[in-house]
Amino acid sequence: MLTQIEAARKGIVTPQIETVAFEEQLSSEYVRQMVAEGKIVIPWNHIRKPKPVGIGKGLRTKVNASIGTSSDIIDYEAEVKKALAAAESGADTLMELSVGGDLDRVRREVIAAVDLPVGNVPLYQAFCEAARKYGDPNRLDEEMLFDLIEKQCADGMAFMAVHCGINLYTIERLRKQGYRYGGLVSKGGVSMVAWMLANGRENPLYEKFDRVVGILKKYDTVLSLGNGLRAGAIHDSSDRAQIQELLINCELAEEGREMGCQMLVEGPGHVPLDEVEGNIQLQKRMSGGAPYYMLGPISTDVAPGFDHITAAIGAAQSSRFGADLICYITPAEHLALPNEDDVRQGVKAAKIATYIGDMNKYPEKGRMRDLEMSKARRNLDWEKQFELALYPEDARSVRASRIPEDEATCTMCGDFCASRGATKLFADDLKGDKI
Ligand code: SF4
Repeated sequence: MLTQIEAARKGIVTPQIETVAFEEQLSSEYVRQMVAEGKIVIPWNHIRKPKPVGIGKGLRTKVNASIGTSSDIIDYEAEVKKALAAAESGADTLMELSVGGDLDRVRREVIAAVDLPVGNVPLYQAFCEAARKYGDPNRLDEEMLFDLIEKQCADGMAFMAVHCGINLYTIERLRKQGYRYGGLVSKGGVSMVAWMLANGRENPLYEKFDRVVGILKKYDTVLSLGNGLRAGAIHDSSDRAQIQELLINCELAEEGREMGCQMLVEGPGHVPLDEVEGNIQLQKRMSGGAPYYMLGPISTDVAPGFDHITAAIGAAQSSRFGADLICYITPAEHLALPNEDDVRQGVKAAKIATYIGDMNKYPEKGRMRDLEMSKARRNLDWEKQFELALYPEDARSVRASRIPEDEATCTMCGDFCASRGATKLFADDLKGDKI
């Protein structure tokens, strides 16, 4: 079976391309062309057939929610509830990143619960299983790793974060650099570096990249090139090790695309606002415009408990400058495994951030929703305000918790409601909606 990119290159508009074009109010021909060029990907899986979601050039910036068990908290039902909470809150994709308990079971239960494209990181289960089987994750053998990737694709993975870009040269760059304030923060990245050093061998995911591509292509699973050496601290942002891995990932994106696989490149991490634009320009330039998947990014290190906000600020800036998929961050980041409420808060913060970013990324699309909301506020039309709100139920519940004496106003200013006063003052000017 052809992948989306192979079909698009033959001039075929697949049903998935058709759906994405309809959802984004674009022509099918535009989406087909961008898929053919590798500038749009549609995470898919020939077996599971998830909801088609487009990621890339000219499309609304998408939000991913990551869930999964840890070695400390293994609750299969809770993970399914988190998946549902993410979907209800508007996540466009989901990553199932469990590392505790029966990993096949949690993956399959989560996939069965939602229709969203689901992704994962195969190295997590690979190292977990090697540790269980041999008592040492570094005894992971490459056949076990490739078999596992195949099994996870057969289970329905629509995209997979694979750490192909960490190689011996990348480790050399990290060593030569001689410092990193925040160390390494990618579980898959650290485990792969440890494996390479323990075995004195090249990363099999890099060395046998064509084999990775061959497996994912069979299912039309998007290969998302993982960012194992991403900065996990503002002061490490854009360092040589991170950029070295990005460079290799961009080369691999081109190779994978040529082989007919849909390719996504992952980015950091922790990034100060003034480095966001350059980071995205570099990735786009080096990868030939491959869609970019930013993790957050967190824009300051000093607000634990509020990292859904630090990341939302980074996400608004990232989507504004061209990032295509944003991984949410929850308030539990750096502190604990997220619970259902954290998932809801994380998705909502990221969705609001990408909405703001897209207002600037696509100014030609206009800002009519904001204009309508301004008028509804001026007119004290509460129902209209709820209708236009990104999260109407949250807005309704805040207002309902503090009912004003005069229901036209709200308890913020009460008798001194400026909107009501101004509307009276300028009643004539407002006739016919001139303002
Ligand atoms: S009371 Fe104040 S905050 Fe509330 S609607 Fe009127 S002007 Fe706005």
